[in-house]
Amino acid sequence: MSADKATQLIHHPYRAPGGFDAVVPGVHKASTVIFENTAALATRQWKDKSGYTYGLHGTPTTFTLEERLATLEGGLQTLLAPSGLSALALVNMGLLRAGDEVLLPDNAYGPGKDLARGELAHWGITHRFYDPLDAASLQAVLSERSRLLWLEAAGSVTLEFPDLSGLMQVARQQPGLVVAMDNTWGAGLAFDVFKLGVDVSVHALTKYPSGGGDVLMGSVVTRDDALHQRLKLTHMRLGLGVGANDAEAILRGLPSMALRYHAHDAATRQVAQWLTQRAELAQVLHPALPGSPGHAHWAEHCTAAGGLVSMVFDASRYPTARVHAMVDALKLFKIGYSWGGPMSLVMPYALKGMRQFGALAGREGTVVRLAIGLESPDDLMNDLNQAFNHL
Ligand SMILES: *Cc1c(COP(=O)(O)O)cnc(C)c1O
Repeated sequence: MSADKATQLIHHPYRAPGGFDAVVPGVHKASTVIFENTAALATRQWKDKSGYTYGLHGTPTTFTLEERLATLEGGLQTLLAPSGLSALALVNMGLLRAGDEVLLPDNAYGPGKDLARGELAHWGITHRFYDPLDAASLQAVLSERSRLLWLEAAGSVTLEFPDLSGLMQVARQQPGLVVAMDNTWGAGLAFDVFKLGVDVSVHALTKYPSGGGDVLMGSVVTRDDALHQRLKLTHMRLGLGVGANDAEAILRGLPSMALRYHAHDAATRQVAQWLTQRAELAQVLHPALPGSPGHAHWAEHCTAAGGLVSMVFDASRYPTARVHAMVDALKLFKIGYSWGGPMSLVMPYALKGMRQFGALAGREGTVVRLAIGLESPDDLMNDLNQAFNHL
């Protein structure tokens, strides 16, 4: 060993003994990965998990997370992205070329729609919206330019559950059309995304897998190696990667995820049922409630129903300011985006212009989305009860 402290601090001969094992996988941090020799450099490759080449191409921590997520969703391969939205972007950018068209449900995650209207449009990629409850409306927008179809179950904010069987039947008439599902709500637990015949499952790990409201991450799971390799090339060229501590946080969340999901589900059904008794509401949106849009499709595919429920207030009875006063009066429900963590959250949205299809199209009023956390459901209903007095 060199006598120089600077060198000693970098090239120290000690190696911890192998055989260390623990409940949570280790946090391996790396940009540089050291090759044993030039032969190892020449033969190692980044396309599978046969070895390590560079931090962006994977570490033991990210490989472990990828494998567990593939299993969770019933897929075979996983790519990790720094947010759910960047995972959506990766699929769009990996699969679409100028002149192609992408098809989105009317109730798609809002920032995903903005990506289609913004960057994708600037790059010569067009988009069309379809009614997720009506397979014929997908049929009507399908063309030879359609390359990618997005599904989302349940839809964002308004929680319509799509006619997955009907939509898949239409999609399969067009060979070469890739079908991608935003599977954040189902999280691999409410229904089996790949049994439906979907090709790509995107999951905002920010939500249930994290479970803490403290990590941003997304995943892209596939079952077809060629499709995975196509997306992996884009992933590599875009330089997408995740931090080791964030990957570890998700690994820590996964073992309790099914338990948490079912707790969110049970509490949300209780709150949703209670909300149906409130005369103030024009509608309660929750896929497990009979009468909620797409309930029959939900019942066909799911037993679980996640942790979201939305309340519709008619503009004629409750102007925006009064609904906002009710939201402001909530004490346990905090005003904030996202969901899947321990704390219940609330978010109001203006109905106007929100939907082109279905019963909410052309309506005015406010949709208030509740993300039910892990607090006592009685406390949450008491909180809602007192807040209704402020309407
Ligand atoms: C939150 C969410 C995303 C985006 O995830 P981020 O990690 O916040 O970027 C995408 N799709 C759905 C359905 C979501 O709820």
